[in-house]
Amino acid sequence: MTDFAPDWKKQEPISKKPWVDEVYRLSILGMSYDVAWLAVSSFEQELDGEDDGVELRMADISFEQAMIRIAGANPQRVLLMTLLHEVIHAIMYQSGQIVDEETVRALAYGLLDVLRANPHFVKFLTGPIR
Ligand SMILES: [Zn+2]
Repeated sequence: MTDFAPDWKKQEPISKKPWVDEVYRLSILGMSYDVAWLAVSSFEQELDGEDDGVELRMADISFEQAMIRIAGANPQRVLLMTLLHEVIHAIMYQSGQIVDEETVRALAYGLLDVLRANPHFVKFLTGPIR
């Protein structure tokens, strides 16, 4: 879990891109998350705990603030994977599940591949329920 430093909003948001404009907010298991697209390719995140330090990240999530930050200056394919990865973190957190990074990575990679390879399946999943 991450608590964003109060100054994180000083980072300039990424300029308008159609595929970003559509995703500034996500409902995840009934909770509304803001998505902040930052105009950087990575950012530093201070680590909590005993071995404090700083880590370079492309995204992170604050469950308490219901906020996902994405380093938006990356190829679109990377951004899709990164955002889905954070969404899976949110799902697991809200479900009370503790999973390791490898599991989250595998789920994000696998889900993105299946969804993109099967647009008819996505349409079926998101269509009306009769
Ligand atoms: Zn992760």
